[in-house]
Amino acid sequence: MLVLLDRDGVINEDLPRGVVHPEEFRLLPGALDGIAMLTQAGCRIAVVTNQSVIGKGLVSAEQVDALHSALAEQVEAAGGLIDRFYVCPDHPEKPTPRRKPAPGMLLEALEDFGVQAAQTPFVGDALRDLQAAQAAGCPRWLVKTGKGAALLAEGLPASLQPVMVVDDLRAAARSILQALRFA
Ligand SMILES: [Mg+2]
Repeated sequence: MLVLLDRDGVINEDLPRGVVHPEEFRLLPGALDGIAMLTQAGCRIAVVTNQSVIGKGLVSAEQVDALHSALAEQVEAAGGLIDRFYVCPDHPEKPTPRRKPAPGMLLEALEDFGVQAAQTPFVGDALRDLQAAQAAGCPRWLVKTGKGAALLAEGLPASLQPVMVVDDLRAAARSILQALRFA
């Protein structure tokens, strides 16, 4: 099974203008554990992330790749594996169909891994994650980290249900694995 993860607000702290400098990339508690739990249960993992910091010229695509290599190493040291990163560099004012809430990157991942959307959980913290996952046909988990708590306070649109709400990525991993056992 493939599990799709948003990055900022799910794996690492979400920052208002995005992560620009490597030292601003701060892992959230339980993130490494959650990924390791999924990997050890046999799940493959892809990260699906909007990085408009590239389109805005704040960082280069190469710098984001370097950040992801460093993240992948930390994940592996903790017993997990991120198979692939899907990064959308679009400026928010010039979005392509890859930029969430559009489902482009999710559809690419489903095709690359040869899996069905209905069996591919997506874990995100923002409205556009849930929208992208719904458009792709993926079941949706919302973490309360990142933008998640504020989104819940506003109220989730009924049209996006069902959404499984969990505290963080570790809880999402537990919930996904539990759902699998009863599937
Ligand atoms: Mg996010």
